[in-house]
Amino acid sequence: MAHPRLLIIYTGGTLGMRPGDHGLTPSGNIEARLAKAFRQLPLPQQQALPSFEVLSYPQLIDSSSATPNNWAQLAGDIAERLKDYQGFVIIHGTDTLSWTAASLAYQLQGLDRPVILTGAMQPLETPGSDALDNLYGALRFADQPHVKEAAIYFHGKLLRGVRATKLHSEAMDAFTSPNYPLLGERMGDDIVHYRGRGLVDQQRGAPRFELPDYTTVSDGAIVRLVLWPGITAWQLAAWLDDPRVKGGILQLWGAGNLPDDPSLLAVLAKASGEGKMLVAISQCPQGSVHLGAYAAGKGLLDAGVLSGDGMTPEAAFGKLVHLLAQPITDEDRRHRFLSPLVGER
Ligand code: ASP
Repeated sequence: MAHPRLLIIYTGGTLGMRPGDHGLTPSGNIEARLAKAFRQLPLPQQQALPSFEVLSYPQLIDSSSATPNNWAQLAGDIAERLKDYQGFVIIHGTDTLSWTAASLAYQLQGLDRPVILTGAMQPLETPGSDALDNLYGALRFADQPHVKEAAIYFHGKLLRGVRATKLHSEAMDAFTSPNYPLLGERMGDDIVHYRGRGLVDQQRGAPRFELPDYTTVSDGAIVRLVLWPGITAWQLAAWLDDPRVKGGILQLWGAGNLPDDPSLLAVLAKASGEGKMLVAISQCPQGSVHLGAYAAGKGLLDAGVLSGDGMTPEAAFGKLVHLLAQPITDEDRRHRFLSPLVGER
């Protein structure tokens, strides 16, 4: 018998959950459940499904508990099995799906085959669930040799993993890619891949995976600060002064502004001076930051803050984790942050 083309890695999430005493909980036996579900598909769809094997993680989680260590485990498991499969489908909870997708993009740089993450807003066995449709599309895209990146398939859309974000907490059309067009779409039983938008043309050569030890940054080394009206210097300092903090993303107003308060900039400059890597993105899901365009954001560059351009919080955070986990110089780290590595900016 021919070797299965794809590997499905099941990590947990609503797609595979069942009702328990305390609400929906991750549930196993996924291989048999998938086989049963796929038999419900119309025949042309069943026939279009590529062959696959399933790797079910022993500890299935609600993705709200995922950490950078889970991201590293997933990347390592894919890297180890890369040559055995034409593509991979990751079944994951939707809450942090886009965070995992962004991280995989950085760890699996130069990927030469599809890694498609998917999940569902409703469990597989719930009538009217989106699970089966999402699995169908994910498997079809994971079987496309021209998709050469970590992507999310959800509700008929293929999104670049490192550009995606969860937009809706209830609707089935839950994900969007605010600053980058779709990589592909489902059309009836078929799928369309927009090849020109894929990463393949931007890649710089063969797989050159970077799988650094994320445990070095998993214990709160990177913080995320979203500005609010009235934020004070002592509040900012409460996060950034802690010696365990190695870096942070700042979500500024609009095109990259913060309150006209020199004591805020002083806190940022002190943290930068201590070698902490600070990067700025916008609170607006669409558009980019342009540090220095307004007087209100001018001091940021002098305080050592790097522009995150139009990156999502997931992309910026995942990139900081990835760069800070590596034994490279600060200069190299800053340079790499400002350069597009996997189509994230
Ligand atoms: N809390 C769930 C999770 O992220 C939500 C979902 O999968 O939709 O695992």
